[in-house]
Amino acid sequence: MNEQSYAYGATKSSIRELAAYAAARKAEIGAENVFDFSLGNPSIPAPDEVRMAITRALTLPATQLHGYTPAAGLPDVRAAIAASLCRRFGDDAATASDLYLTCGAAACLSICLNALLNPGDEVIVIAPYFPEYRVWIETAGGVCVEVRADEATSQPDVAAIAAAITPRTRAIIVNSPNNPTGAVYSAEVLGQLAAALAPHDIVLIADEPYRELLYSGTVPWIPSLYNRTLVCYSYSKSLSLPGERIGWVLVPPAFPEHDRMFAAVAGAGRKLGFVCAPALFQRVIAECIDVPSNVAAYEENLHALTAILDACGYEYIMPQGAFYLWIRALEPDARAFSERAKSLELMLVASDSFGVPGWVRAGTCVSRDTIDRSAPAWEALAASYR
Ligand code: PLP
Repeated sequence: MNEQSYAYGATKSSIRELAAYAAARKAEIGAENVFDFSLGNPSIPAPDEVRMAITRALTLPATQLHGYTPAAGLPDVRAAIAASLCRRFGDDAATASDLYLTCGAAACLSICLNALLNPGDEVIVIAPYFPEYRVWIETAGGVCVEVRADEATSQPDVAAIAAAITPRTRAIIVNSPNNPTGAVYSAEVLGQLAAALAPHDIVLIADEPYRELLYSGTVPWIPSLYNRTLVCYSYSKSLSLPGERIGWVLVPPAFPEHDRMFAAVAGAGRKLGFVCAPALFQRVIAECIDVPSNVAAYEENLHALTAILDACGYEYIMPQGAFYLWIRALEPDARAFSERAKSLELMLVASDSFGVPGWVRAGTCVSRDTIDRSAPAWEALAASYR
């Protein structure tokens, strides 16, 4: 048995563990009495265009509909995505042959890390960070190096990142809009980051599943600021399709040694078995590329939840994007705080697995009813610390 794999299977992700506990409590005491803010599972249904595209695809001959596609995806789907990127980010943003379609951002990240790392290579992550990064880095043979974001702004602390660079640093993962803080990294800070990375040829892996879920400002297109960027994108959040496992890796045309890098991406896909992304959903996303996300619904949730928190005196970071709220725990031990919240049926993920102490994450991708009903539990939790 591979002990590393065993260890990852035996110790569950704290997010999924909490979600499983919430599901069990819902079965015991009724779903309406559990306030489950644990998962990043979109509460907004996929747009109608998705259903219509599925219906159209179902008329294809079965061998096409359910058949293998090329490992990197259907050529016309890759062309449609590239055309959309060029419309949005400039004529030279992408061509079809720069895209590798795969099973959501999780597979994109694993592929990029396996394409880049040799044993012992270091990858910088900006804490707080999505906990699975550590799993994907370590299983690709790398070492996860945590660098705290600037506490006041939630932006990358470029001086601290520069100080963490060693001769083994191969890559940095940049996630904006950010899970869990909702921060959108500014072009100014990303430009400074690019200047710090460039002398060392460090690859920037831009993990962008929340690009479309934006409440204010714009999300800079990182390849135009730093050419050694790989972009990971997923339709899990933007089109509410997390269970369908569809997204892509882009090796932008200006990436140095582009063809070798693309071959390594394709090779990592082959090595990991991430070939031929789900065929039906390749076709669906090609038809839904420019369908807007329902950001307004998440924004309403956000305002409803922050109104409750304001009334109880909680401190939180106002997100610019994504669908989470990063809330300061009312005691230094975030796990203890999360446990106390749990006893009030309030499911909040402790910040420790995100690489920082003292905070919790609440997903705002829940039903409005859950938020409204949760108000007394938030108040009871706050009151228990007064
Ligand atoms: N990256 C971040 C920052 C995420 O929050 C998630 C999922 O929540 C993923 C990657 C994985 O997304 P996917 O469902 O597309 O694999």
